[in-house]
Amino acid sequence: MDIEGFRKAGYAAVDAICDYYTNLSKRTVKAEVQPGYLIEQLPREAPSTGEDFATVAADFQSLILPGITHWQHGKFMAYFPAISTFESMIADLYATSVSNPGFNWVCSPACTELEQVTMDWMAKILGLGKEFHLEQGSGGGVILNSASEAALTAAIAARETALRELTSSEPGSTVSGGTFDVPDDLRAKYSPKLVMYGSTQTHSLGEKAALILGLSFRAVPVAAADGYALRGDALRKAIEEDVKKGLIPFYVIATVGTTSTGAVDRIDEIGQVVSEYKTISLHIDSAWAGVALALEDQRAFLRLDDINRYATSFCTNMHKWGLVAFDCSLFFVRNRKALNLALDATPAFLRSKEADTGTVIDYRNWQLALGRRFRSIKIWFVMRSYGVKGFQDHLRVGIDQCQQLSKLITASSSFEIVTPPSLSLIVFRLGGAALPADTLPAERNLLNTLLNNRLNARYDVFLTQTMLHSADQEDVFCIRIALGGRTTTMQDVEEVWAVVEEEGEAVLKEWRDQKA
Ligand SMILES: *Cc1c(COP(=O)(O)O)cnc(C)c1O
Repeated sequence: MDIEGFRKAGYAAVDAICDYYTNLSKRTVKAEVQPGYLIEQLPREAPSTGEDFATVAADFQSLILPGITHWQHGKFMAYFPAISTFESMIADLYATSVSNPGFNWVCSPACTELEQVTMDWMAKILGLGKEFHLEQGSGGGVILNSASEAALTAAIAARETALRELTSSEPGSTVSGGTFDVPDDLRAKYSPKLVMYGSTQTHSLGEKAALILGLSFRAVPVAAADGYALRGDALRKAIEEDVKKGLIPFYVIATVGTTSTGAVDRIDEIGQVVSEYKTISLHIDSAWAGVALALEDQRAFLRLDDINRYATSFCTNMHKWGLVAFDCSLFFVRNRKALNLALDATPAFLRSKEADTGTVIDYRNWQLALGRRFRSIKIWFVMRSYGVKGFQDHLRVGIDQCQQLSKLITASSSFEIVTPPSLSLIVFRLGGAALPADTLPAERNLLNTLLNNRLNARYDVFLTQTMLHSADQEDVFCIRIALGGRTTTMQDVEEVWAVVEEEGEAVLKEWRDQKA
C-alpha cells in the first residue's frame, strides 16, 4: 500500500468504525456464533500473492464482527468494562505510526518523557502520596500491559528486596548497592523458603505470579461477615504459622476492589502486620477500582491513606473503567531503585551516555520485557480531552447507575443483594421473600445456577457469575452486574434488569411447579 492507498483505506476504516458505533445498540451484545465459526470460513494457507486491500477490510465486517462480543455495547455488564474511547483509538494509531520499542530514553525520548509526565499526572489525580511520584519522590510509575504483569513485576522486586535483607547480614556478604550482588549460593539457600500471600478473593494473578517464580502462594481465608475483605488477624496467623515452619514471608497482595464483589481488603490492618516484617513488600492490586481514587469522596472507602502509608507498590488499570483502550495498566512503586535493582540487566549494546550519567530513565529496567508499547500517548490524549473533571464525571455515572439499580433489586421480592454495592459493581441472587426461609444453601445455589444458565443462553445481555468462598459460610453462587461502561445508559440498566427479573421468575415458576 502506498500513501495514497493508506489515505483512502484510512478514511474508509474511520468511516466503518463510526458506523459501527452509530449502530452498536442495534446489535446483540454477545456474538451469535458457535465454536469454529471463523475457522470454517478461512483458508488454511495464507494467500501466495497479495489481495486487494478493500477486500481484506470488507472481510473484517463480514467475518470478524459477527464473532465479536461487543465490550463497548451499552448492555455489556459482564466481568468489568474494558472501555475504549475515540481519543485512545486515535492515540493508538499515532503510536503505531511511529512504531518503536521505546525501551531506552534514546530509543525515542518522547516515549519515555511522556510516560514520566503522564504517570505523575495520574499519581496526582489518584491522590497517591509524593513517594510514588517520579519528579518529587523516590518512586514513580510505569505503564505495563496488565495488572497480572504488575503483580509479577512487584513480586520480583519484592523477592530481591527480601533476599538483600536476608543476606546483607550474612558473613562475607557482598550486598552493597549494585545489581546481582546477592551471591548465588545465598540466593539458592533462601529462595525456596519464600512465600507470598493473598486472600481467597485475590485475583488468579497471585497464584500465577507464584507459579512463574516457582514459589508458593498462600490464599488466606476471608469471612462473609467482613464483606469478603482480608483482615489483619487472618494474615498474621498464616504468616506466623509459616515462620514457625522456617518459611520466609516476602510478598503480600492486598486487593482494593476484588473481582468477585468489589471488596476492599483492610489495608490498615494488613499494613500494620506487614510493617512488622522487614522482608515483606505489600502490593495493592486495584486493577478495576483504583481509578475511582480520582473521586475524593471515594478515597476513604478505597483506603487511600492506608495505601499511601503502607504500600510498596500499587496497580490500577486505565483499560478497565479508565477510558483508555486496552492495554494500559498503571504500576506505581514507592522505591524505584529497588525495582531497578531487581530488573536491570544491561549488556554493552543497551548502554547510552544519557543513562550512564543518570540523567534519564530507561523504562526497560522497570519491567520484564525489553521492548514496550508507546501507551502514554493514550493517557495524554484522553486526560487532555476529558480533563480531570470529565474523567470524574464519567466515573460518577457508573456509580450513580449502580445506586439506582440497587434500589430496583431491593424493591424486588424475588432477589437479594449479596454484598453491598461497591462503586459500580453489584452482586445479587434469587432469594429474599421468594424462597422459604428453610431453603438450603445448596438449593439456593442450584436455583441461581439455573438462572445463570438461562441468562447465558441469551445474546441480548451479558452478565457473569461468581462463587464466594468464605470461612464462616457455605459457598454462595451469585451473579454480578458490572456497570461503568461508557455507552451504558440508565435505560440499558433497566432493560437488563427486566431480563434478569423475567428469567428469575421463570426459574422460580419451574421450581414451584416441580415441588407442587
Ligand atoms: C481485572 C482484574 C485483574 C486482572 O487484570 P489484567 O490487567 O487483565 O491482568 C486483576 N485484579 C483485579 C482485582 C481485577 O479486577
